[in-house]
Amino acid sequence: MVVTYTHEPFTDFSIKQNREEFETALRKVKAELGKEYPLVIGGERMTTEEKIVSENPATNEVVGKVSKADQKLAEKAMQSANKAFKTWRKWDPEARANVLFRASAMIKRRKHEFSSWLVYEVGKPWVDADADTAEAIDFLEYYARQMIRLKDGIPINSRPIEHNEFRYIPLGVGVTISPWNLAFAIMAGTTIGPAVAGNTVLLKPASNAPVISYKFVEVLEQAGMPAGVVNFIPGSGSEVGDYLVDHPNTRFINFTGSKEVGLRIHERAAKVQEGQIWLKRVVAEMGGKDTIIVDSDSDLDVATDAIIYSAYGFSGQKCSACSRVVAHEDVYDELLDKVVAKTKEVTVGDPTDYNTYMGPVIDQAGYDKIMRYMDLGKEEGRLMVGGEGEVSKGYFVQPTVFADLDPQARMMQEEIFGPVVAFSKAKDFDEAIDVANNTVYGLTGAVISNNRAHLEQAREEFHVGNLYFNRGCTAAIVGYQPFGGFNMSGTDSKAGGPDYLLHFLQAKTISDQF
Ligand code: GLU
Repeated sequence: MVVTYTHEPFTDFSIKQNREEFETALRKVKAELGKEYPLVIGGERMTTEEKIVSENPATNEVVGKVSKADQKLAEKAMQSANKAFKTWRKWDPEARANVLFRASAMIKRRKHEFSSWLVYEVGKPWVDADADTAEAIDFLEYYARQMIRLKDGIPINSRPIEHNEFRYIPLGVGVTISPWNLAFAIMAGTTIGPAVAGNTVLLKPASNAPVISYKFVEVLEQAGMPAGVVNFIPGSGSEVGDYLVDHPNTRFINFTGSKEVGLRIHERAAKVQEGQIWLKRVVAEMGGKDTIIVDSDSDLDVATDAIIYSAYGFSGQKCSACSRVVAHEDVYDELLDKVVAKTKEVTVGDPTDYNTYMGPVIDQAGYDKIMRYMDLGKEEGRLMVGGEGEVSKGYFVQPTVFADLDPQARMMQEEIFGPVVAFSKAKDFDEAIDVANNTVYGLTGAVISNNRAHLEQAREEFHVGNLYFNRGCTAAIVGYQPFGGFNMSGTDSKAGGPDYLLHFLQAKTISDQF
């Protein structure tokens, strides 16, 4: 009997011993920086001439050089995954779950080491890195249990001389295209969700985070994942990504990333290719333009903390990040003052330092995009604090607040993916809800209010996949706050939710007449 799922606790870094253990892990990983990593195809390690060079965004130091798949190798991976599917799909779901339980236990034992890779590879401060690793563990633990739950299908009716059965079977070979922001958690979850369901996976991780992905694939192998079930093929989106999305043998695509790339995948996957005998499923988690509404009757300290945490956590590089605040006119000025004052206290710097609240942003392209929005914010609104960046070493952006935005301003409509929050004023709660709903997205949102009737109104009318009351709009926990959004935020799927695995399964009805 498997014990009940509870999420992995976060490390309490106020305890000296925990800090020391984390520092030891950071030193261990630092000594390993700069190494080379191969592809893993059908259990075989393959090295290519061309490499993806993963750099620390805080220092530009090389974290690792990872072999880069081309179309020929992608095809080889497809063949391996196809072959592995023939046996893996027949494994007892509990046996498949056991591979995940084992992998989770192994990661728990080396938890700070994985977090340290995240500190170096994507510039995560300790707390963010620790949460990312905890969430990866949660996905392993939760999806393993969900597969066990689905193992016998769902009971249906039978008449006296028949036995009807409704069971779930896997789909086939899928492609997982994972992001760099939750470089461990989402990469792991979007890989092993389909895999524990009996599918085989071609994992194409983000080019900014291939080393942590390799480390995960290594753990899966050590935990007993058979060769070919998860194939590790970093590569370029336009070369390897498109090739696999278009491939007639691809049965599903599990994507997390930008709206632009998600739409491209959705469109390409819809085209039935020569020899293809199914319609591909696309599960896509795309962007967000997430709002915290602050009501007239509300605790402004709770609101301020929620905004700071949700807007600047991991430098705002979350699709769940708070990038808009819609505040009631009665509290607008006071809230703005409080948020500006707290923003000035946010420490920006080296993520290996325990005292850093906000590290760098991911790369030059990310930095340039944010800085373009800094310019736009100055045109469309009033800069209250921040607005500057620094790239002499690493890619650092100040936490930034813009005030007095028109609800239709581009700053209020477009995803920035940086530590930038725009304020807009509402004359009443109805208007606040209207503004909160006025984007193409529908991912997360929060309402800070002491007015129960307003919270109940928001429950019905605030159209987002993850709605939070009197807290921030980030930091969903697997199995507690299943995560995923509406409209252009994706395909309405819920990572870490009880129906997630069904995206990678198909139901079969068997009617046996006696
Ligand atoms: N699940 C994360 C959260 O609740 C965000 C995921 C993402 O940014 O892609 O904050």
